[in-house]
Amino acid sequence: GESEIGWNIDASYKQLPEAFYSLQRPNLVQSPQLKLFNHPLAETLGFDPAVFAENGLSYLAGNQVPYGEKGLAQAYAGHQFGHFTMLGDGRALLLGEQMTKNGERYDIQLKGSGKTSFSRGGDGRAALGPMLREYLISEAMHGLGIPTTRSLAVVTTGENVYRKTTLPGAVLTRVAKSHLRVGTFQYAAAKGNVSELKALADYAINRHPLAHKEYENQYLSFLYEVIERQAKLVASWQLVGFVHGVMNTDNMTISGETIDYGPCAFIDHYDPATVFSSIDQQGRYAYGNQPYMANWNLARFAEALVPLLDPEKEKAVGLAQEAIESFKNLYLRHWFSGMKKKLGLVGVAEGDEALIEELLALMEQEKVDFTNAFRALTFMREDETLFGRNPNFIQWKEKWLSRTRFQAESKEEVQELMKLHNPAIIPRNHLVEEALEAAVKADDYRPLEKLLEVLADPYAHSTAQEAYTMGPDQHSNGYVTYC
Ligand code: AMP
Ligand code: MG
Ligand code: MG
Repeated sequence: GESEIGWNIDASYKQLPEAFYSLQRPNLVQSPQLKLFNHPLAETLGFDPAVFAENGLSYLAGNQVPYGEKGLAQAYAGHQFGHFTMLGDGRALLLGEQMTKNGERYDIQLKGSGKTSFSRGGDGRAALGPMLREYLISEAMHGLGIPTTRSLAVVTTGENVYRKTTLPGAVLTRVAKSHLRVGTFQYAAAKGNVSELKALADYAINRHPLAHKEYENQYLSFLYEVIERQAKLVASWQLVGFVHGVMNTDNMTISGETIDYGPCAFIDHYDPATVFSSIDQQGRYAYGNQPYMANWNLARFAEALVPLLDPEKEKAVGLAQEAIESFKNLYLRHWFSGMKKKLGLVGVAEGDEALIEELLALMEQEKVDFTNAFRALTFMREDETLFGRNPNFIQWKEKWLSRTRFQAESKEEVQELMKLHNPAIIPRNHLVEEALEAAVKADDYRPLEKLLEVLADPYAHSTAQEAYTMGPDQHSNGYVTYC
């Protein structure tokens, strides 16, 4: 029953105006099987992990909803590759908000649970491979210390889904601080009902309390704070080489968590133009473009909030614009401070920015592995395979070493700082593919479990991680991901 597992569900989302959701039951599935279960996360959420894993399958498959309630599909809109569309959860249902013992509130959502009123032409289903991929990458992001939705479980449904081929179906249980998106606000704004928009903003502020309340108008403070959260988030992506791949406004959260692990992947060699997604022909969401795209999305967010910013439209637009212009500096501040930590640079010295830019330029020119270059610098390895004998790199390294000698911190302290900010491992594309293939094709989850285990603490720099540090044999230009 509910209490043995530890369900403690609230449904605050239902307090919003009805336009924001539609209630429905998940699809019943034939013969569900539990494939992955996140015990530590279950514990954090206040569940009894052992009981849940043992007896909770029907919930994780959508065959049963806590307390016999319906699921909830959220309405939202979004700019997809620049084009505005009405969307909504087409293959996901919110089961409710799990209240933890600390009074924290987490959305528990099934993804792949069947058609909803927002499915348009889609089947409402998900295939096993992509759900395992989301589980793996989102948990890896969490391990890297980057705000993200989490993954509680993956179950197979025993039913097929049809894409280009026949694939095994699955349901992922996604956990989030909330699923409020920039697109949720665009939806409210597009409907043109200011009281609904206000209800949504009040809900969002209540759910994600503002750290600073700088402006008398709390909606303006809210706008600045969402900009700040996203500036920080995208900087943290850039610092580990994460390419989201589909930064549509419906895939950008208000909480500042990474969401929607479709075509995402990590760069191997450093190249700002890197694109993995098969559908991103123009490179709109290329690695180096992500900060600009975040800024663009936030401008759409600010536009949506305009009716709440000031009764005078012109003044409201001015305030929105001013807020949007703050993104660039906020982003650069987070990125720069993160890069300095990656290089062990403490304090402020003239030329730090140039030092960072020069290294990145060299890395790009020599197609150097991003993660391994910072690892090598952390351990001061003379790694000739990374930069060859490039005299510019040797010069750069001299400059860098003299900069680090100039600061008061000992060599050991600098190295500790670098270890905390330079992961030994990331989910390497070729390793992800190998692990997923074993799971999907051979029902062998050991490589995936092992990968999840080492990625849980990427900053350990342990010998157990060594086998996972290698870049691909060839440069990964050819790696393609799908939604
Ligand atoms: P995404 O590109 O993952 O952000 O999804 C964009 C929109 O398409 C969202 O509204 C999804 O709910 C919807 N969607 C994606 N896949 C399916 C599917 N198989 N069936 C119905 N809707 C889907
Ligand atoms: Mg999405
Ligand atoms: Mg998606």
